[in-house]
Amino acid sequence: FGVDPLTQRIKEKEKKWKYKVAVLSGKGGVGKSTVAVNLATALAKLGYFVGVLDADVHGPNVAKMFGVEKAEILAEKVNDHFEMIPPVVDFMGQVTPIKVMSMGMMVPEDQPIIWRGALVTKALKQLLGDVKWGELDFMIIDFPPGTGDQILTVTQTLKLDAAIVVTTPQEVALLDTGKAVNMMKQMEVPYIAVIENMSYLICPHCGNKIDLFGEGGGEKLAKKENVDFLGKIPIDPKAREASDLGIPIVLYDDTPAAKAFMEITQRLV
Ligand code: ADP
Repeated sequence: FGVDPLTQRIKEKEKKWKYKVAVLSGKGGVGKSTVAVNLATALAKLGYFVGVLDADVHGPNVAKMFGVEKAEILAEKVNDHFEMIPPVVDFMGQVTPIKVMSMGMMVPEDQPIIWRGALVTKALKQLLGDVKWGELDFMIIDFPPGTGDQILTVTQTLKLDAAIVVTTPQEVALLDTGKAVNMMKQMEVPYIAVIENMSYLICPHCGNKIDLFGEGGGEKLAKKENVDFLGKIPIDPKAREASDLGIPIVLYDDTPAAKAFMEITQRLV
């Protein structure tokens, strides 16, 4: 029995992606998409060719964070099927061009995606196999929160090189994070690491560090699970503003979050 043509195309394309990195979280709202977008931009700032796939079909906001949510997706006929051409962002030449694809670009903003699982799986596979991604140093995949079907689909279809699990320092988030880490272990992903987001706040008046949600949770979890700890990202009031403007915070050089993202990215490469 052969594999279906779409799966075959994914297998061909992934040969041209040097490192396939998944970004996950145990639950929503911990900053998973923010981390995916800023890691991608930091890598592009270092000169790498990066593609970002927003696989979070139920809350796709990667396109918005890159400012390409209204981009028109063109398609080209390749043999017997059509391939989509991903929009490219380079922030006026500040970074190496990043290719971005997201369900958010294909669905009107005010319409929730109420699809059956099989359709979601197909759409996800198309975003991998029916897009002209070309040669990439890093393919960053922003997964939906949790440990659901879509994650299984992607990890069964392509061979991930790394999984980055995002958490906040809180207990509840950490429990869920442990589950996401274990799922990646079960899928035999060769490199797994934890990033702690919203770790602390730098007081804009006195410059002191304030631990809002406790301290050291992400690091403890990484130790317990025997995976790498890549670092902490502070709460940065500018992060929200930046993501609304479609400019990743890592491009605001002098902010605490930008510094943290660059350090973490250097550790990763
Ligand atoms: P998730 O993908 O886990 O659901 P998002 O990346 O969408 O989370 O982030 C949720 C919200 O928190 C967004 O409004 C985002 O701008 C904000 N946010 C994420 N990380 C930070 C941070 N370090 N500092 C300030 N705001 C942040």
